[in-house]
Amino acid sequence: MPLRCLFACLLAMSLSAQERPLILKAARLLNVRTGKLETPGQLWVKAGRIQAGPPPAGVEIIDLGNRTLLPGLIDCHTHLLFPAGLGELGYLKRSQAAMVLDGVVNACKVLEAGFTTVRDVGASAGFGDVALRDAIARGDIPGPRMLVAGPALSITGGHGDLNGFPPHVHVGEDHIVDSPDAGRHAVREWHKRGVDLIKLHATGGGLSNHDDPGAPSFSPPEFKAIVEEARRRGLDVCAHAHGDAGILEATQAGVRSIEHGSLLSPATAKEMKARGTFLVPTLYALESILLPGNPYKVPEGSLAKARAILPLRKAGFRVALDAGIPIAYGTDIGVFEHGQVAADFRYLVSYGMTPLQALQSATLVAAELLRMGGEIGSLEPGHIADVIAVDGDPLTDISTLERVRFVMKDGKMVLRIP
Ligand SMILES: [Zn+2]
Repeated sequence: MPLRCLFACLLAMSLSAQERPLILKAARLLNVRTGKLETPGQLWVKAGRIQAGPPPAGVEIIDLGNRTLLPGLIDCHTHLLFPAGLGELGYLKRSQAAMVLDGVVNACKVLEAGFTTVRDVGASAGFGDVALRDAIARGDIPGPRMLVAGPALSITGGHGDLNGFPPHVHVGEDHIVDSPDAGRHAVREWHKRGVDLIKLHATGGGLSNHDDPGAPSFSPPEFKAIVEEARRRGLDVCAHAHGDAGILEATQAGVRSIEHGSLLSPATAKEMKARGTFLVPTLYALESILLPGNPYKVPEGSLAKARAILPLRKAGFRVALDAGIPIAYGTDIGVFEHGQVAADFRYLVSYGMTPLQALQSATLVAAELLRMGGEIGSLEPGHIADVIAVDGDPLTDISTLERVRFVMKDGKMVLRIP
């Protein structure tokens, strides 16, 4: 499957060398801003951008038939370099080079699933995410446009540390930060390495050993130093956080987004709303950990944490929705299989969003979180021509987003299923 995927993508890249003006036609086009379906749908594309006004005569028409045109999708929480199902100790046996190659294959799967932009938030492979982003941007390999964070910053004993080993075992602790100055230093180092944003672990996590997802991590001065220094370098900060205290402290320090946000309280949600902090909920990841038969080989300790959090996070998501916090689509792929990157749509709807809200989370809202609202996230003149097409109407059947039939990125065709 991965080879077929890569082959198709490479083939598409060779086709894209013939980039030329064209008209995309389909039975429908969904305006994600208004929720209105335009029938028929039509887009004029030239030089990688959506054009205004009527196209000149003679432009080639690509007719996608009884399909719906939509903006390319955006996942704000990926781990392209982490193979799903590696298990906790698997990382210790995998070289950084192997993980970068995993990233090449996973980038292709994600693009073919209709995701033309991702924010990759935490890769341990020696800033391999930076290299992957740049190779895709140069057009050397197929993949989504990437914003990358490098390794996530963590406290000693936190979600990003290697816990439960004898004291003589140390593995890559550059990202372990235990003072405001160490936080500033790490941000400067990460900036030097070319990241687009900083990721930190504001609480313990589910897939790590011997830490508590409910407990906050950094002290308020450490949070503040990291966020302040990131701002000085022009970088946003996103915070992994399950417990409410960590969500609140990270929010008050000024992070751009809270990842997971499982145990969010109404009072903290109010603070997030007031500050314009985004939530990136990653709903299916937790569900996937608890799938029958444990396909991703999750250790028992992590299964127990997931069982405890799952019922509470449904309430936490409802709190976020009721508070009107901007919710941006994010999956945590790498916890589960990358080809299932569209799985969260079903869960967003089953947890309380309308299908249009779920689609907006992966288009308009995600683009805003990435500060790219003027470029991607809707099909408007002047925007980058990132376009997908699905069968039927996603507003009546959200699962159609899991079967994307056509993908265009930067005005170049990537996938077209007859
Ligand atoms: Zn993650």
